[in-house]
Amino acid sequence: LDSCASVLSWDQETYMPDAGTEHRARQLSLLAGLAHRRKTAPALRELLDRAEGRAAGSPEEANVREARRDYDLSVKLPPELVEELAHTTSLARRAWVEARKKREFPLFRPWLEKIVALKRREAEARGYAEDPYDTFVDLYEAGETRESLARIFTPLREALSALLGKILGSSRGVDDALLRRRYPIPAQAEFARRAAARIGFDFGRGRLDVTAHPFCSPIGPGDTRLTNRYDEHSFGEAFFGVLHEAGHGMYEQGLDAGAFGTPMGEACSFGVHESQSRLWENFVGRGRPFWRHFFPEAQKAFPEALGHVAPEEFYRAINAVRPSFIRTDADEVTYNLHIFLRAELEQALLSGDLAVADLPGAWNEAFARDFRIRPSHDADGCLQDVHWSGGSFGYFPTYALGNVYAAQIHAKAREEIDGLDASVAKGDFADLRRWLNEKVHRHGRHHRPRRLVELATGARPSPDALVAHLDAKYGEVYGL
Ligand code: ZN
Repeated sequence: LDSCASVLSWDQETYMPDAGTEHRARQLSLLAGLAHRRKTAPALRELLDRAEGRAAGSPEEANVREARRDYDLSVKLPPELVEELAHTTSLARRAWVEARKKREFPLFRPWLEKIVALKRREAEARGYAEDPYDTFVDLYEAGETRESLARIFTPLREALSALLGKILGSSRGVDDALLRRRYPIPAQAEFARRAAARIGFDFGRGRLDVTAHPFCSPIGPGDTRLTNRYDEHSFGEAFFGVLHEAGHGMYEQGLDAGAFGTPMGEACSFGVHESQSRLWENFVGRGRPFWRHFFPEAQKAFPEALGHVAPEEFYRAINAVRPSFIRTDADEVTYNLHIFLRAELEQALLSGDLAVADLPGAWNEAFARDFRIRPSHDADGCLQDVHWSGGSFGYFPTYALGNVYAAQIHAKAREEIDGLDASVAKGDFADLRRWLNEKVHRHGRHHRPRRLVELATGARPSPDALVAHLDAKYGEVYGL
């Protein structure tokens, strides 16, 4: 049922005429209702009870454990609360769109107040040990808590802040204006598609279409759909967007198709999913070896824009670091700082330490502290992301976890795969893809995210690999 809904949602974002919106909403709500009834059926609990006692460590045990987790998460919420959340967030989303467009936080404020109150009720209904925020952290990244995240994020924040300070103080500037020359859209689409296929996204079992906001939609075995958007005067947005979504897509394509419909056939977590997209986008796609292969091809595809550009000039341009207001435009160094700021503020909103009315001011203060620039209006500040309007508290940290996991996984892959950089420089990604499948993809939800990363890399998740990567790379780019 959920995968049927995925097809309808994908269609809505890509090809459906606008006038179909209302009918599509009814279709989706019908499917969501049917699925919810099955996910919370008392018969399912009986089946889960009967299925207990599988061999420890077996895929069957993992299936029962994770199916029970999903069941418990579904039944803990009273149906009235589920309905109220769905109803409120759908209206809030509209208010948010308008507020962002007009740059007027007060239009969104009453809705956010309602949502925060509902999320507190949700936390109470789901239950938590220490802190209501723990509920939502665990929801998106099973087994994690506010505290366990702080152990990774606090030192990472300090290291990033120090690195950013050094970069801003560096006398060596990086000019990335060449990325805003004219890149004809058909050539961009063709080039991005070729790159996605080359790194290993299987177009025999997937598609790439155009949407306003890029995403990866896993429909089912043999059908994984990516979307992207193109801007004639931006090379990076579309190209790295496709690498990112292809990373998500290859994870889905690497799951065990025979386990479809069970936890063993599903991705481990949001953070692990994001590690796969970030690995291809940043750790492979913004690296020198990758462009040894692709830069001559890029020059052929965009002779006007890149014909006279030196490879090194291009490499530096795609790795320019600059504090900016918008998270989705952020570079590798500042990106996580955007996340930590959001996590800090959403915790304060949930705990009541921060009133919704004070959010814009608190955002701008924190932003000036972390980025040394101050937003001049709320569309560049607390109104920029859709997440809170949808009630997605606790989701942001999974982006930063994705970066942390990606660094650690990529470092281990380079250690274990002979001559990986040399293969990448030849445009050969097969070894890396196989390694990722072996270590990450094929396991589904057999292990919790922390354990999966530990098994894949031999170490618990820590910020060390990411800090080492960023210090080395940007030390060189900025001559630090
Ligand atoms: Zn992603």
